[in-house]
Amino acid sequence: MHYIFVSTMRSRRPPSVPCTVGPEINPGRQCIRADDVAIRQVVYKLFNFTSMATKKIQQVLAPPPPHMVGDGFRVHNFFPSGYTMSQERMSPFFLLDYNSKIDFAPRDNPRGVGVHPHRGFETVTIAYHGKVAHHDSWGNSGVIGEGDVQWMTAASGVLHKEYHDEAYSKAGGPFQMVQLWVNLPAKDKMSQPKYQAITKAQLGRYEVPNDGGVVEIIAGSFEGVKGPASTFTPIELYNIRLKKGAKLSLDLPASYNTGILVIEGAALFSDTETAPTDSFVLFANEGETIDLEATEDCVLLLLSGQPIDEPIFAYGPFLMNSKEEVQQAYDDFRQGKFGQLDE
Ligand code: MN
Repeated sequence: MHYIFVSTMRSRRPPSVPCTVGPEINPGRQCIRADDVAIRQVVYKLFNFTSMATKKIQQVLAPPPPHMVGDGFRVHNFFPSGYTMSQERMSPFFLLDYNSKIDFAPRDNPRGVGVHPHRGFETVTIAYHGKVAHHDSWGNSGVIGEGDVQWMTAASGVLHKEYHDEAYSKAGGPFQMVQLWVNLPAKDKMSQPKYQAITKAQLGRYEVPNDGGVVEIIAGSFEGVKGPASTFTPIELYNIRLKKGAKLSLDLPASYNTGILVIEGAALFSDTETAPTDSFVLFANEGETIDLEATEDCVLLLLSGQPIDEPIFAYGPFLMNSKEEVQQAYDDFRQGKFGQLDE
């Protein structure tokens, strides 16, 4: 449950409105209760609120030194290991690997990462440049093309391999990707694996007024436009593509863990901090509104989600709630319960 606060302390106090939306009114702070981001956005518009509390920037993080995943992915890990964030800090997001833009030389034999298992979470791969081919132990395969998103629910377990697409590998050229690991609630960790292969054309599109750019909604909703991805817990995931000078405001619950990765260009956040290309803006769990201004043409990846308040036990490619569950995952993996896949 989230609250829209109508602060009585602010100079830009909105006009007095009857707090009739939702059953609970907090007399101390005058607030309206709303269930999700979509409702909040509607309420916000309905009462023409001019301002909510600005979401505080905790830190602008430079990309940590990169490491190779296999020989195909040169990634900056912003969390959990790149900085000293706790494993829960960005929950439901557990891991952010960012392959900043680099040129791979042409090669006949595609680079990548060989067969490995996952259990207990989802991998979300967002391709900005280059193409990745994917195969798994249940016979699924596909290519994640430029602008596409693959949302793989590993859940009870898959073996998979991720390689540069053969045609891309032969040609070489720019390569830029994000992989997120999204945790699953305990009740869904052993559900059946599934895929959402989402093409760029299927993403929700919100045109920013005055030809200011476009917001591509992967998951969640923005200004009434829904993203195609189905999620197990509330998640907002957007590509925000703004032209220089364009402005945009986002409204996200204070309780959601929220960050913005600057994929291209640069932007000014809440009139205070400028974040350059490849940096990650980490927001504190205070305030709701993010005001963006593109100081150059830019592409920003917004991730925001309701935390999963459960214990985490992570080891290698497994993300479970307890050590016993991780041991079970290793046992099941050794016994071939994740299926079969050739290198
Ligand atoms: Mn993987």
